[in-house]
Amino acid sequence: MIVIMKPKSPLKEIMMLKQKIEMDNDVSVNVIQGKEYCVLGLIGDTTTVDAGKIRANEFVENVKKVQQPYKLSNRLFHPDNTVVKIKDGSIGGDELAVIAGPCSVESEEQIVSIAKDVKKSGAKFLRGGAFKPRTSPYSFQGLRVRGLELLKIAREETGLPIVTEIMSTDMIDRFVEDVDIIQVGARNMQNFELLKQLGKTKKPILLKRGISATIEELLMSAEYIMSGGNENVILCERGIRTFETYTRNTLDLSAVPVIKKLSHLPVIVDPSHAAGIWWMVEPLAKAAVAVGADGLMIEVHNDPVNAKCDGQQSIKPKVFQKLMKDIDKMINAGMSREYDVVNI
Ligand code: PEP
Ligand code: MN
Repeated sequence: MIVIMKPKSPLKEIMMLKQKIEMDNDVSVNVIQGKEYCVLGLIGDTTTVDAGKIRANEFVENVKKVQQPYKLSNRLFHPDNTVVKIKDGSIGGDELAVIAGPCSVESEEQIVSIAKDVKKSGAKFLRGGAFKPRTSPYSFQGLRVRGLELLKIAREETGLPIVTEIMSTDMIDRFVEDVDIIQVGARNMQNFELLKQLGKTKKPILLKRGISATIEELLMSAEYIMSGGNENVILCERGIRTFETYTRNTLDLSAVPVIKKLSHLPVIVDPSHAAGIWWMVEPLAKAAVAVGADGLMIEVHNDPVNAKCDGQQSIKPKVFQKLMKDIDKMINAGMSREYDVVNI
């Protein structure tokens, strides 16, 4: 349930109403001050809440029941877009945020050289897997802790914040210490214990959509993190499994406007894991920008043919540079990436 306050309601009145609702019911009330409206979000058992009584308050504009099971990630609770701050950068603001780098960290020379290349082309974050979730136990599993150390070297050399995937709860302290954005991969989107523990941190979490997950399931996973107290969640559409076999997955671009409507969280698109084919990354990345994504995550490798992981879907630094130039042209041509989602 949400309570929409009238514009310019005095803070004292808002806080008094919050206290009263919390005293009379078994709920906690989040006060969200938006650009235009102040909204009170009621979390908990709202069945006992008397909406009529709240409506009678002279500063209340409206009281609405929230039908969806996700609350904190729901746009009704937070009409303005969330901007997740990461060091000097951010994801979800006016600027398109591009995360680029290899599927996995392979050596110091590899990660530092790719980091320098993608930075030159305009990437704002460096990706690279240290712990890799591979379908086969016989495939390269990542350099693990050594991979984290190499990512830190690349960050030192370039200043790019680092994004890498966590696979188990026992690494959380280490990741909080070392990493700027913690990625939860598609295979762990519903690892609820991991999500709960990440909710206790304040680190930005990049939550990728599960291979067969619905948008509502993705938002419920975000809810697990947010209900623990961590509101720094970035969602990622990375393709879903369908009957099509030409591509590795089917990129569900319609998820972007749907998530924008349903949630205030930033949403980025990973065309690399969606297509699984390097030459499709460029057109799909452009389409993602056109559809209003807040950012992109792209696999870039200096030697894709010999990559230890996902070489077939990795683009070379030169191709990445051209893509970034083309995207700049799209944005500079005045293309708007904004939605008037609140009024739809
Ligand atoms: C990755 O980003 O390297 C990765 C494994 O992605 P996903 O979880 O989307 O498959
Ligand atoms: Mn990969």
